Amino acid sequence: MPFLAHFGIGLATKRFFPQIPLWALLISTMVLDILFNIFIFAFWPSHGLFMAAVWSASAMLITVLITTLLNSKKTQNTQNFYVSMIIGLLVFSHWVLDFIGWPGGLPLLFNDSLTIGLGVFSTWFGALAMEIGIFLPGLAIYIHYIIKIKKIKVIDDHSSEIES
Ligand SMILES: [Zn+2]
Repeated sequence: MPFLAHFGIGLATKRFFPQIPLWALLISTMVLDILFNIFIFAFWPSHGLFMAAVWSASAMLITVLITTLLNSKKTQNTQNFYVSMIIGLLVFSHWVLDFIGWPGGLPLLFNDSLTIGLGVFSTWFGALAMEIGIFLPGLAIYIHYIIKIKKIKVIDDHSSEIES
């Protein structure tokens, strides 16, 4: 149910794992909702704890495959695994935030099983506090990172100007 909060997590992750493209980080945080919209007519569960773990592991495996295909050098295997692990964790972070926010709780297994959750979104204040409380710090971390990168680039351009 949270929306901005998921993007906040994705934005903040860019600061710590700059080698992963931002679009991949943002999409990863929303994979469970994308699956939810695809499977809504088929009644396929996407937001239960069990299925969230399955989707996260699948996202990790798919990322391992894609990164291995793209970077064929053997030396990059650990790097590919590392990136895939972050993508898998981001997909799972969606469940964690929905667990905190979703008013009715989320099922442990499939649609009819026991539900768990903190239901922060049951009140508009809780919803607002959670969305803003996660999105704004995430955005701040991202903007701080972008400014740092720009500064490094300006210094690099300047020193190469002096060299030439
Ligand atoms: Zn969701």
